[in-house]
Amino acid sequence: MARPEGSIFKLCFLCSLIANLFFGVNLYLGRRGVGVEVEQRRGERPRPELERRAAAEAESAAARECSGHGRAFLDGAVADGRPACECNTCYGGPDCSLFLPSCSANADGGDPLFLEPFWKQHAESSAVVVAGWHRMSYSFSDQTTLSQELESLLRKLHSQVGNAITDDKYILFGAGSTQLLNAAVHALSHLNSSFPASAVASIPYYALYQMQTEFFDSADCSFQGDPARWKNATNTTGDIIEFVTAPNNPNGQLNEAILHGPNVKTIHDRAYYWPHFTGIPSPADEDLTIFTISKLTGHAGSRFGWAFIRNEEVYQRMNMYLQLNMMGVSRDTQLRAMKLLKVIIEDGGREIFEFGYKTMTKRWDRLRKTLSMSNRFSLQKVPPENCTYFQKVREPTPAYAWVKCEREEDKNCIEILNAAKILGRGGSIFHDDDRYARLSLIRSDDDFDMLISRLESLVSKEDGAKIM
Ligand code: PMP
Repeated sequence: MARPEGSIFKLCFLCSLIANLFFGVNLYLGRRGVGVEVEQRRGERPRPELERRAAAEAESAAARECSGHGRAFLDGAVADGRPACECNTCYGGPDCSLFLPSCSANADGGDPLFLEPFWKQHAESSAVVVAGWHRMSYSFSDQTTLSQELESLLRKLHSQVGNAITDDKYILFGAGSTQLLNAAVHALSHLNSSFPASAVASIPYYALYQMQTEFFDSADCSFQGDPARWKNATNTTGDIIEFVTAPNNPNGQLNEAILHGPNVKTIHDRAYYWPHFTGIPSPADEDLTIFTISKLTGHAGSRFGWAFIRNEEVYQRMNMYLQLNMMGVSRDTQLRAMKLLKVIIEDGGREIFEFGYKTMTKRWDRLRKTLSMSNRFSLQKVPPENCTYFQKVREPTPAYAWVKCEREEDKNCIEILNAAKILGRGGSIFHDDDRYARLSLIRSDDDFDMLISRLESLVSKEDGAKIM
């Protein structure tokens, strides 16, 4: 017969086993299953540790210093199991510490990396974690493809900066201003006339206007060059579409429309109308104005631009083009643009525009000083402008130097610069004389330092170079 102590012991053991099993299973499910459901139902958001993991991954790429002459990206090539360094033009090696003394200074293209240090200083406030389930739909819940929040931030920014009046204007987003420029040409062609339109732009002009119009080869519009020859033309049949770029790429001038009249439509390209580059004498208040973050925040790679349009029919036609072309700008891009704008708007743009203006001023001072020694090369002159944003009259600090080769025999300026290991763009790309060349001043510090060093040695070899 079993002893009573033995039965009591067995009973206690069984109870303890059941209790342990119950709490153990509960604990296990609580962590692995039920708990997750509760957490997700409560907040409808992924667990914070996922965000932390995403942030850690991004930080591990960002933490690679690349010797201060490059950067590593999450989506870049991988070396030794971690994102590899992508080096600035004259640097190489696995950590970009290797200076390549014989390389050419890169002053080509319009990459706006001069603002990269600003964003590194604001890495935390400008970072975005994009959840796997972020905005998977084709449209926002109001059935549009535009973020209302982003729209209101853009309007707020323009009122803070004073560079555009946005009241009573429609807004559209595009994949950079590049797409909006073409949407605008489409919308303005055949608007009132049954004849094809002619597109024009004052020389020197940004090459894309002509390339785009010709490449898309529309029966509705053809590119006709400089507007000067249309100025006194009275018997034009179709409409004329004039591109007006202020400040202008390549020479930084605040261009104004040359043509006026009932059959003239104007596309105002204001990519550079920000206090980094120019005084803001008054807010733009035009029928069709295009902006881009490429030259405002420096995020050319995000491909985001916006247009303000006064006329409803023009707005509808542009909107139709954009919807058929790509059904609205990527929601991921809109999220990123929104985050960047929030950082800028927080202090009314003070910090970013002071940083941009200061950087550009220092670069222009160094460039002017270097070329002041030269009899061979000269720089464009852009008159000082009143700046309502900084509340002072200021020297413009354009994105590009428009260099002129002054010697009679130097007919091709870019060839001379290329031979001195300086990359840039020849005047004919902007339909001007090849005696001119464009050098970009908005690239990285390394690129700019290299440009100055190459220019210094070129100028020092001049016969009769001025001595300080
Ligand atoms: N307009 C001008 C005058 C430009 O210089 C540029 C870029 N260099 C653009 C438009 C295109 O900019 P985005 O990156 O917005 O397409």
